[in-house]
Amino acid sequence: MAQISILGGGLTGRLMALLLAQQHSVTLYDEGGKDGNLSAAFVAAAMLAPMAEAVDATPQVLQLGYQSLDLWKQIINRLPEPVFMQFSGSLIVWHAQDGDIAKRFAQQLRRGNGGQEVWTNWNADDIAKNEPQLGGRFTQGFYLPTEGQLDNRQTLLALANAIENAGVKCHWNTAVSLTDITADWLIDCRGFGAKADWNRGKSQLRGIRGEVARVYAPEITLNRPTRLLHPRYPLYIAPKENHIFVIGATQIESEDQSPVSVRSGLELMSSLYAVTPAFGEARILELATNLRPTLDHHDPEIRVDINKKILSINGLFRHGFMIAPAVCYAAMRIFENALQGQAIEKDKQTGIEPVVL
Ligand SMILES: Cc1cc2nc3c(=O)[nH]c(=O)nc-3n(C[C@H](O)[C@H](O)[C@H](O)COP(=O)(O)OP(=O)(O)OC[C@H]3O[C@@H](n4cnc5c(N)ncnc54)[C@H](O)[C@@H]3O)c2cc1C
Repeated sequence: MAQISILGGGLTGRLMALLLAQQHSVTLYDEGGKDGNLSAAFVAAAMLAPMAEAVDATPQVLQLGYQSLDLWKQIINRLPEPVFMQFSGSLIVWHAQDGDIAKRFAQQLRRGNGGQEVWTNWNADDIAKNEPQLGGRFTQGFYLPTEGQLDNRQTLLALANAIENAGVKCHWNTAVSLTDITADWLIDCRGFGAKADWNRGKSQLRGIRGEVARVYAPEITLNRPTRLLHPRYPLYIAPKENHIFVIGATQIESEDQSPVSVRSGLELMSSLYAVTPAFGEARILELATNLRPTLDHHDPEIRVDINKKILSINGLFRHGFMIAPAVCYAAMRIFENALQGQAIEKDKQTGIEPVVL
C-alpha cells in the first residue's frame, strides 16, 4: 500500500482517486470546491461521441472513446447516487441551404470511421417521429446510434462522494504545487493548472477556450444530443434532465478565462434559435467559460518521472469525458508497474505509450 497524493480533483483526478483507493492510501487536493466548480469538466457538455468526433480526432482518441463507453457504464454503476447517463445516439441536422457542408461532413465521418457509413440517414418523417420538437424544421439528418452523454455535474459530485466513502482524504479549496506535498507518489491531474510544470518536458500544454450556455426550456424535450451543421455557428445541444440544455461550444485559441463574450453569446443563442424558435422562450441559466487542456499532438499523454515519483496525466482536450475512463485505467496499470519497479511499457489494452522522464 502506497501513500499517494493526487493534485487536481477535476475529471481525471476524481477517477484516479476512485481507481487507486482500492489498493492505496489516497489524498486529493483541488483548488476548487467539491462540486468541481473550477474544472473544465464542470463546464463541459459531457458528450460521449466517438463517431461524430471521428471527423477531426486522432485514431488513438477514437479508440479510447469507444473503449470508454462500456467503462463509463461500469463506473456509474459503482457510484453511490444516480447519475444521468444516456446512450440514445446523437442526431446531426442542417438547413437545406447547407447541404454542401453536410456532404463534406459525411465524407469526413466516413473517413474517420474506417470508410464505414456508421450513421443512418433520417428523412423529415424520421426526424419528426424521433425528435417531434424538430419535426418540420429539417428534411435530412444523420443519426449516429452508439453515442452517449452524461450529466457532468452529477458525475463530478457522485465521484466526490464515492471517493470520500472509499476513504480518500479530500482537501477541497486547496491549491497545491508539486513541491508543496510529500507522499510516496504524486499523481498530477491539474489539467491546464499543470501548464508551467508540464511545459518543462517535450510536448507542450496550452488551454483552448470554450464557452457554453445552459438554458431551461420546460416546453422542449429532445431525446438525444443534436448537432447543427452551419457555416458560421456549428453547435450542439445536449439535453440534460429536467429540460436543462447545454449549448456549446466555442473553440478559441486563447487562454483567456474571462466571462463569455457578447459575440459568442449571440452566436450560441442564434444557432439555438435556428434549431427551433421554440427555444426563444428558454431561460438562460448560465454562460460559462473554461479551458480545454490541450497538447500539441492532440492526444492525451501519461508521463512518468521515476526519480521524482510523479505520474502526470494531461491533454484530454475536448474529449475528456469521452476518453477519461480508458486513459485512467491505463494510467493505473502503468502506475502499478512503476510502483513494483517493472519496466514502463506501452499499455497493451489502450495502446497508450507512456512518456518516461
Ligand atoms: C466548453 C467545454 C466543453 C467540453 N465538452 C466536452 C464534451 O462534450 N465531451 C467531452 O468528452 N469533453 C468535453 N470537454 C473536455 C473536458 O472537460 C476536459 O477534457 C476534461 O475536463 C479534462 O480533465 P482534467 O481532469 O485533465 O482537467 P479538469 O477537469 O480541468 O480538472 C483539473 C482540476 O485541477 C484543479 N487544479 C488546477 N490547478 C490546481 C492546483 N494548483 N492545485 C489544486 N488543484 C488544481 C482544478 O481546480 C480542476 O478541478 C469540454 C471542455 C470545455 C471547456
